[in-house]
Amino acid sequence: MTQLTHPTSSPSRPHPAGPDATQHAIVIRQLTKHFRRRDGSTVPAIDGADLHIESGEFVVLLGPSGCGKTTLLRSVAGLETPDSGSIAVGGVTVFDGEAGIDVGPERRELSMVFQSYALWPHMTAAQNVRYPLENQRGPRQSRSQMNERVTEALTAVGIGDLGGQYPNQLSGGQQQRVALARALVNNSTVVLFDEPLSNVDAKVRETLRVELLAMQRRLGFTALFVTHDQAEAMELATRIAVLDRGQVQQFGTPDEIYARPATEYVAKFIGNTNELPGTRVAGGYETPVGLVRTPEDAGEQATVLFRPEHARLSTEQPATASALPGRVVAVLFMGTHTEFLVRSGETRMRIWVSGRSTDFAEGDEIWVGLQEQDVMVFASHPGQSARPEDDAR
Ligand code: ADP
Ligand code: MG
Repeated sequence: MTQLTHPTSSPSRPHPAGPDATQHAIVIRQLTKHFRRRDGSTVPAIDGADLHIESGEFVVLLGPSGCGKTTLLRSVAGLETPDSGSIAVGGVTVFDGEAGIDVGPERRELSMVFQSYALWPHMTAAQNVRYPLENQRGPRQSRSQMNERVTEALTAVGIGDLGGQYPNQLSGGQQQRVALARALVNNSTVVLFDEPLSNVDAKVRETLRVELLAMQRRLGFTALFVTHDQAEAMELATRIAVLDRGQVQQFGTPDEIYARPATEYVAKFIGNTNELPGTRVAGGYETPVGLVRTPEDAGEQATVLFRPEHARLSTEQPATASALPGRVVAVLFMGTHTEFLVRSGETRMRIWVSGRSTDFAEGDEIWVGLQEQDVMVFASHPGQSARPEDDAR
């Protein structure tokens, strides 16, 4: 198999970064970037971001529209100049506000894959892949050297025989491979992706994700991938950085983010949650639907959260730590699970049972059972919404 190998050193490498940066593909430290609006006010697009990304990782920047994902990615690429902080790529400092270092995008050892791949429609696959080589700085390679590199790159992504095709003659998966070959033909070991799959329909997107992941694992490049789609992030990422208003709320594996969200914002953005206002009492929090037992203490007033798939429904009062009474008001079969809408006073809860469940019907009086480990509590911040879509920026 053709390998896209990376030169261990290159004469164009400008500033060796500190020793601990060399083990990382990307190190972002205390990065900030403000934009000035027309009315003179400023927006903190990136607000003190810190990320240490290891070589070969697939890191996803996740957050709602406007949270700063693209700005952070473009800063790594060198297409945006941050206000302060530093960025190192492959052990080389490419930006340092204090030291006045700002390496041009063409001198950073990375490539970017844009939305919808941005292939040139009037060029064949091979011409598209050759494009970065023809426009490279430094001494130009010979025609045969370039052709060799193009063939190698196309072969590496499994489409060595499609070099003569135009983009509109290729499937979505093949176009993705051309875009990847073009990103890797320069020996880049870091590839940045800005929502490349966002304009693709859902079914095809799934296939493309699986393929992208397989190629990333096989070819071994480091991926930094932006998306607002939490399912996409969960599937692709070795680690997810959840962004909110330019700040990294949590950086962890999909498991960690899902099971132990650091903030209420993260808990609500990843997966689904039921939400109850709580007041601290002995043994847990008193909520409008009863006592929710938890050893955690998030202060006097807190938001109590649990996931729809973690609760159990039963006709008899269960022996679980918490048992909340309610009535089934709707049953929805969703394919992979059945959703029971449960009402208790003014409170509505969604409970999921895997597969098709006919155990309970509309109108049934039931109990919602919760184990202590299924309960998350976060301090209430009056007047501050943690729900991304309420974010009035
Ligand atoms: P995302 O990619 O997560 O949707 P962006 O990085 O594009 O977010 O934007 C982050 C914030 O910075 C938003 O509030 C956006 O309006 C603002 N912003 C981005 N680019 C510019 C720009 N060129 N000029 C002014 N404001 C900008
Ligand atoms: Mg964006």
